[in-house]
Amino acid sequence: MITSADAVVIGAGAFGASVAYHLARRGQRVAILDAQAVVTQTSPRAAGLTQQIRSDPLMTELAMRSVHQITQLTAESDEPLVYHQNGSIKLALTELFAAQIHDEVAKGQAQGLDIALISGREAQRLAPFLHPERALAIWYTASDLYLEPGDLPRAYLNAAQRLGVTILPHTPATAIGTRAGRVERVVTPQGTIETPVVIDTAGAWTRVVGAMAGINVPLVPTRHQLYITQPLPGIQATQSIVRVLDFNVYVRPERGGLMMGGYEPDPLQVDGQALPSDFQIKDLALDMTPLSRLTELVYAEFPLLRNAPVAELRGGLPTITPDGRHIVDQVPGVAGFFVASGCCVGGLSISPAVGAVLADWVVEGAPPLDLSPLRLNRFGALAQDEEQLSAACLWRYAHHYSHEEQ
Ligand SMILES: Cc1cc2nc3c(=O)[nH]c(=O)nc-3n(C[C@H](O)[C@H](O)[C@H](O)COP(=O)(O)OP(=O)(O)OC[C@H]3O[C@@H](n4cnc5c(N)ncnc54)[C@H](O)[C@@H]3O)c2cc1C
Repeated sequence: MITSADAVVIGAGAFGASVAYHLARRGQRVAILDAQAVVTQTSPRAAGLTQQIRSDPLMTELAMRSVHQITQLTAESDEPLVYHQNGSIKLALTELFAAQIHDEVAKGQAQGLDIALISGREAQRLAPFLHPERALAIWYTASDLYLEPGDLPRAYLNAAQRLGVTILPHTPATAIGTRAGRVERVVTPQGTIETPVVIDTAGAWTRVVGAMAGINVPLVPTRHQLYITQPLPGIQATQSIVRVLDFNVYVRPERGGLMMGGYEPDPLQVDGQALPSDFQIKDLALDMTPLSRLTELVYAEFPLLRNAPVAELRGGLPTITPDGRHIVDQVPGVAGFFVASGCCVGGLSISPAVGAVLADWVVEGAPPLDLSPLRLNRFGALAQDEEQLSAACLWRYAHHYSHEEQ
């Protein structure tokens, strides 16, 4: 086992894999550890969708950069990566959310995103499984894409390994040593790695790893689920992703059937610090009931989902923050300790740009753009009160697509 590195990345999911790759491209000697096999926890269980228009301009910018990076990844790294750039559609069924559709189009266009209002007829042409008769407003973002979720971090790790990154599966970080307010080393059962830089990308365990350096990372791991149906008539991989804003539901083609996921009003929240030490995401209890309820709400839009046989139920523990923004920061008070987490169920698709800007930050000593909306200490007293933090994160999750504030 190596004994020193320029940077140690803790957690080999979407965020960690991208950070490790981009650090290596900047010439850093990097080790990336995972407590389990790499890319086996929440990341490979995602839906694999992008939605570039986000709730704030910084996240939209990062999400746009990420789509560009995904489309360039093979040319840049020689790693094959399959993606389906068929665009995404979002519709609103009520006046309140129709106003948000118009707002997202205006904001996206102002940032140079290829988002535009479309008719119901056009939406149905792009996604024939959609019946948009109830929609009051619909947008289409042509460059949005979907991919097999595990493929992206696996591609980054393969490319990182070729650039000399040391990948250490089944190697949990168990302690982080600091001296005089600086990161100094990462301790694992297999040995200690001296390093001036640690990046906490431990997903549902981000708080556990943060606590090793005395840091409170305010986020709540929250179960998110989707299902995939058996093949259904007329479904093609070339059809667009569809989201229904009012009900926080998404649907896309998958394996000749439909993938359906959504955000229920009362999700299961998990205390990462109370998880058994041998817990893995595959042990997470899944429950079809919330998805069945959400599906009933959109039978009119997706009649094929009525009584569609389910081939797979899938779920993981994305990490939710009170304002729906990620946490990407160098933690004040512990120099060299960075966090990339608080994925808010959008971490896979934004991981390329997050990895790139964090690598720039580590190497240059400052991020290439103002990341202050994503800083760790933005929640004030809320971060110190577990009950309030959970309530705020639950509300945010339940209103995932909505720009309403609590
Ligand atoms: C059903 C579902 C659908 C989703 N759909 C989308 C989508 O369409 N688009 C999108 O962008 N996002 C989506 N997401 C969210 C996406 O999956 C997450 O944002 C992303 O996977 C977060 O990656 P991560 O690296 O933070 O976490 P993970 O993939 O869980 O990686 C964290 C890693 O850290 C490791 N680790 C933990 N503790 C330690 C330790 N002490 N030492 C070493 N390693 C450790 C873990 O073993 C794990 O491998 C979805 C999620 C789910 C569950």
